[in-house]
Amino acid sequence: MPGYKKPCRHCGKLAEPDVNVCPFCGTVEPAGPPRCPKCRSPIQKGAKFCGSCSFSLEITCGSCGKVTFPDTYCEHCGNKVAIKCPNMKCGYEQVLYDNKCIKCGKKLK
Ligand SMILES: [Zn+2]
Ligand SMILES: [Zn+2]
Ligand SMILES: [Zn+2]
Ligand SMILES: [Zn+2]
Repeated sequence: MPGYKKPCRHCGKLAEPDVNVCPFCGTVEPAGPPRCPKCRSPIQKGAKFCGSCSFSLEITCGSCGKVTFPDTYCEHCGNKVAIKCPNMKCGYEQVLYDNKCIKCGKKLK
């Protein structure tokens, strides 16, 4: 639905409500709450497990090696933990959980 722009939860700038990635800071799904990388249910920052599928919400940052919440950026070093699907037609940004793109199923590194 075409509608009002919504503020990004990371940088607060307004973006279209249906964008996958904030055009200003790169946050994945900027308008909504953070979502479980596995079942896509909204998740609370600080929770250890997803309430819907019990997926562990503690992932290891590839940059600093610390355990962080599965959102776009590492809580510790600020580097991006979400990665982009290498499929040119897809390019969906997501937090890794299964080595596969949640949209098209292509293997991610
Ligand atoms: Zn943003
Ligand atoms: Zn889940
Ligand atoms: Zn980090
Ligand atoms: Zn993909």
